[in-house]
Amino acid sequence: MKTVTFPNGTIVPALGMGTWNMGDSASRSKDEISSIRAGLDAGIRVVDTAEMYGSGRSETLVGEAIRGVRDDVFLVSKVLPSNASRSGVRKACEASLRRLGTDYLDLYLLHWQGSVPLEETIAGFEDLVAAGLIRSWGVSNFDTDGMREIAGIKADTPCAANQVLYSLDYRGVEFDLLARDRREGIVTMAYSPLGQGGDLLKAPVLRQIAQRHTTSLGPATTAQIALAWVLRQENVLAIPKAGTPRHQGENFAAQEITLTREDLARIDESIAPPRRKEPLAMI
Ligand code: NDP
Repeated sequence: MKTVTFPNGTIVPALGMGTWNMGDSASRSKDEISSIRAGLDAGIRVVDTAEMYGSGRSETLVGEAIRGVRDDVFLVSKVLPSNASRSGVRKACEASLRRLGTDYLDLYLLHWQGSVPLEETIAGFEDLVAAGLIRSWGVSNFDTDGMREIAGIKADTPCAANQVLYSLDYRGVEFDLLARDRREGIVTMAYSPLGQGGDLLKAPVLRQIAQRHTTSLGPATTAQIALAWVLRQENVLAIPKAGTPRHQGENFAAQEITLTREDLARIDESIAPPRRKEPLAMI
């Protein structure tokens, strides 16, 4: 299983799981909890959530799913920019911990940059590290400018991760951000790696490549190819969201796929890599 290494030396599998929209519908919750459990049973460790998702409903569902197995999980949540003052970060984190039914987060991210000065948010994160409420901190939706700003702020603990949109639909980060994060030892977390289950999964090029691969579950699917493509990058952690154990299993099996040079060339012909700087896309 491919892994990524955080600046504090923690190593986790490069395939994690997202949970946006989970907990929003009572009729889907059972499947969603089973899906998270199936992922953990298979060996996935990173579970990504946020106070924003369903105004706390995703965190509550994740809390239920990880009850009794908390220590097997590398738990990530995010603070809204509007809560990112020094004292606001503490309050928001404590509320997330209550919903998640745990007393620490492995990683806490600023969801996107808002109007609170970054120095203040980072000071808040460092208070949380010192208090043992979080083990590391990072950011989300930060482009190279923002990452440069972070690097210029004096802090006792390093920025551990930058969570950004990265899929075949959005390749802009390949121009400079991925390499920059890697150089700095920062893990890039790739969100929406399956193009949110939309048209990307119908792309003819992915259909053609899927026909040439199999996994232990059978013929490869376009979703597995899209995921294997993101996972080919060093120190990139992909967090697809699977609402059912079946999808979770398929995503897990995508780790068995190694795309060939020819596959990658065909993809580049169909979905060109960036040739110049593009503003960071976000959802
Ligand atoms: P994804 O790209 O992960 O796509 C999720 C969709 O793909 C769902 O409709 C899901 O359906 C479907 N799917 C999952 N597995 C398969 C499969 N094997 N075959 C076919 N379809 C599949 O989109 P998300 O936007 O959810 O992104 C992933 C995570 O990233 C989020 O859940 C969240 O944790 C994080 N995120 C972070 C953001 C940020 O600003 N930091 C922004 C957006 C997302 P089903 O549910 O039926 O399985």
